[in-house]
Amino acid sequence: MDLRSIQIAEAVEVLLKTIPPDVTLVAAAKGRSIEEVEAAIQAGVGHVGHNYVQEAQPIIEALGDRANWHMIGHLQRNKAAAAVRIFDMIETVDSMRLAEAIDLRCAGLGITMPVLIEINSGRERTKTGVLPEELDDLVDGITKMEHIQLMGLMTMGPRFGDPEDARPFFKATREAFERISARRLLNVSLRYLSMGMTNSYQVAIEEGANLVRIGTKIFGTREGD
Ligand SMILES: *Cc1c(COP(=O)(O)O)cnc(C)c1O
Repeated sequence: MDLRSIQIAEAVEVLLKTIPPDVTLVAAAKGRSIEEVEAAIQAGVGHVGHNYVQEAQPIIEALGDRANWHMIGHLQRNKAAAAVRIFDMIETVDSMRLAEAIDLRCAGLGITMPVLIEINSGRERTKTGVLPEELDDLVDGITKMEHIQLMGLMTMGPRFGDPEDARPFFKATREAFERISARRLLNVSLRYLSMGMTNSYQVAIEEGANLVRIGTKIFGTREGD
């Protein structure tokens, strides 16, 4: 094993030891090579997240059945067809139009796609994610679709700075999760609350996250960060 792979394996080992057993680690792999992603999988990562369909494609082609593949970046509707072919879960549904595109493409393939709704819990101007007051309508719309299975919520929150600053975002998302769970909607069993990154995953877990998406702590810093 080369040095990179050893570093990645050590980082994964530490993470898997320190996060609670009921929390699933998703390795956020944007900008990483096939070799880097493979090293993480080899070390015990079972779920890998990508932000871009095109970037994920060759990696999933190479490593396909060795992990579960999550779409964690903003998905454009015109990429829905390609996305449903390669991903096992789409964490970033944030509009009816996107949900409809996913549903239509899945119907064509005869599959059902597990999805999370991305919520813009902090009403940040970053555009992605549904606003809290629009969440219920989107939930209602998705539950009527036959080829999408709503499985939970995802939020970004701030990626840098004091992790405590992220706590209110995570708390708001957990409250939304609990509120929707309490509606006991037919066809919906919310299981996943995806929040927390390298900087903030401990706070996120304290606030109820059971999927954490971690990149830097596994793979090191990226150019541009
Ligand atoms: C990059 C990214 C992460 C991981 O961020 P790190 O700070 O590198 O751990 C998690 N989620 C999404 C959506 C990302 O784009």
